[in-house]
Amino acid sequence: MTVRVRIAPSPTGNLHIGTARTAVFNWLFARHHGGQFILRIEDTDQERSRPEYTENIFQGLRWLGLNWDEGPFFQTKRLELYREAVQTLLDQGLAYRCYTTSEELDALRVAQKARSEAPRYDNRHRNLTPEQEAAYKAEGRTFVIRFRIEDDREIVWNDLVRGHMSWQGSDLGGDMVIARASAEGIGQPLYNFAVVVDDMDMQITHVIRGEDHIANTPKQILLYEAMKAKIPEFAHAPLILNIDGRKLSKRDGVTSIFDFKQMGFTPEALVNYMTLLGWSPPDSTQEIFTLEQAAKVFSFERVNKAGAKFDWAKLDWVNSQYIHGMSVDKLTDLLIPYWEEAGYEMTGGRDRPWLEQLVVLIQPSLTRLVDGVGISQLFFTETVEYSDEASTQLKQEGSATALKGIISAMDTTSQLSESILQDIIKQVVKEQNVKKGLLMRSLRAALTGEMHGPDLIQSWLLLNQIGLDKPRLTKAIG
Ligand code: GLU
Repeated sequence: MTVRVRIAPSPTGNLHIGTARTAVFNWLFARHHGGQFILRIEDTDQERSRPEYTENIFQGLRWLGLNWDEGPFFQTKRLELYREAVQTLLDQGLAYRCYTTSEELDALRVAQKARSEAPRYDNRHRNLTPEQEAAYKAEGRTFVIRFRIEDDREIVWNDLVRGHMSWQGSDLGGDMVIARASAEGIGQPLYNFAVVVDDMDMQITHVIRGEDHIANTPKQILLYEAMKAKIPEFAHAPLILNIDGRKLSKRDGVTSIFDFKQMGFTPEALVNYMTLLGWSPPDSTQEIFTLEQAAKVFSFERVNKAGAKFDWAKLDWVNSQYIHGMSVDKLTDLLIPYWEEAGYEMTGGRDRPWLEQLVVLIQPSLTRLVDGVGISQLFFTETVEYSDEASTQLKQEGSATALKGIISAMDTTSQLSESILQDIIKQVVKEQNVKKGLLMRSLRAALTGEMHGPDLIQSWLLLNQIGLDKPRLTKAIG
């Protein structure tokens, strides 16, 4: 048997973290078994579906490296298939036309509520006679198609994550609507129905999706049975929770996967972290891996039932591991757009080799790519603003003398290098009789405007290459 799995997002919003994590599990499972990963766009809700969301879903999956083998298939292009399937169920008496009006349904709900009963359809149009149907039609009522659900049915499945699952037919809300009416007859199919027809047609072997779909599974199993199809395996992955233990939502500041890009996460780190949301590798000490490496050892045995807490600190840590381990060339490519967005100009000697030296300097300090903006600002502006601490430092006794010494020592040297700078420092300490600590702190304050930051000598060299060191030293003593 070839494993065939699918991700079936509805384009009613951007690709969000929950769907993306479900896609990760599907992808890992498919790759582990050498199977197929299929993309299906569930766009039957035409009012809420938007082409820009579909595009966002494609781009998001591609950005994360979750390439699919088949599709994208669009449900709106497959309406004929659903119509035929509905007709077959109607012909077999497993489904029927229900003419109950929304007012009647409302009244039913109110009465059930008054009796403290759970809302459910009371199957009142299950066995209409042709005369009754004709009378309703003559009244101008429209219909929906309902699928019969027997109250005394027990539906069981062995969930790959949650184990033995059992539902009672009576808990499924009565006969379920599988399609609406349209002017031409059978109209828009509903989610539970379309998904089963598609999963059958696409020969899906394993339905891997979020835990929020558990209650749909018994209904879907009944539909598989009715359509005499093989029932796939089901795996319901735990929800992703925020720090308060509630489902991660827009309120947590993330709607789309691209919000994470904006925040400076790399796709490799994000997808690595998502893999850990509910799954742990057999060697749980190994937390940094590629999708391919994870696929080799992925199984549902190591997927948790409990909700997975989204931990920003952990994601930051994973991201920093990727950034610190990245080639300078690649990191430079990734940082350039952030610098450009910040309005930094790559002129005045800031050529590629210089940018790469800057990257080498800041790389160990970065957690997110956006951190590369603030930390590099002093290299892209002519002058620097002094922090309060830096101004205090520059007013210290001996500070100006030390910096003057540095300027005159520089005047007698043409090309600067790390060792030459070290020599200059030694020479000034000796000649001016200043403490090295004071000199270094004053240098940092003058050159960077701050009292902390990346390696001072390397920063100085970079500033020197674009001719900014001397003007800054001069200004600091001025
Ligand atoms: N369209 C459904 C969703 O976006 C798919 C659910 C499923 O995988 O069956 O949640």
